[in-house]
Amino acid sequence: MESLNYYLQQARQLHTALGHFNFATADVLRGIVEAAKDAGAPAVMVGTSEGEADFIGLKEAAALARALREEYGFPVFLNADHFKSFDKCKEAINAGYDSIIIDASKLPNKENITLTKQVVDYCRSVNPDISIEGELGYLRGSSEVQAKIEISPTDYSKPEEVADFVSRTGVDRMAIVFGNIHGIVTDQEEKLDIEHFSKIIAVEPRPYYILHGASGLSDDDVRAAIKEGITNVHFNTELRVAYKEGIHQVFHDKPGETTPYKYLAPAVEEVKKVVAKKIHLFMEK
Ligand SMILES: [Zn+2]
Repeated sequence: MESLNYYLQQARQLHTALGHFNFATADVLRGIVEAAKDAGAPAVMVGTSEGEADFIGLKEAAALARALREEYGFPVFLNADHFKSFDKCKEAINAGYDSIIIDASKLPNKENITLTKQVVDYCRSVNPDISIEGELGYLRGSSEVQAKIEISPTDYSKPEEVADFVSRTGVDRMAIVFGNIHGIVTDQEEKLDIEHFSKIIAVEPRPYYILHGASGLSDDDVRAAIKEGITNVHFNTELRVAYKEGIHQVFHDKPGETTPYKYLAPAVEEVKKVVAKKIHLFMEK
């Protein structure tokens, strides 16, 4: 199997993007992989936050990703999504994760660089194919439905700081902030500042740039970001909402249903619809 960085490089050349979708249960993971493959994606990234990983188990997540890769003959890359400490990153890598996001963006810049470099060095010593993402800028919100989140250009990743960060850490990928927030907001429009992203990529073209918090963004904004050089887009909240509403619908229609695969399967179908729609958007030329 080719490495994740290989697929990101391919996406960069084609001006397309890989999808990154979160899961906390085996049914949703399978649904993501099936939908991505059926929609014609070259590969898919699946991720667990620390909370999601605590629920399903790091080793279990790695074993499931490996099993699906084999069963479907399809490149599935498992990512530790926004892991906050060196120890958690190390645990994920030792469990068999293919990719890490060390998110030390809440720390002062110097400490962010030191911690990120420590994770990069560890990953490289284990396997040079592991892809590592750092984060710079203040990405607000969490993966849920929220009313309003203040977004200020002072939170944006600064081009010169991104360049310095990449040089000092040697990360493969960068999570940056240019108007994006985590989760969905209901009382305001979420809007990307594409011009700001252009400035970042002009100053520092080396890493693969990652768009987090794409749930709630318009297709036009996601399309524009990919055209400008985003090679990987993260969706979580839209999948969570689809799953929850799918389950809700089953119990509304059949309140007495007690067979898990009968009340979960329709919810997974709803998740698959979201994944397929996003993959088509990422593959547009
Ligand atoms: Zn994220």
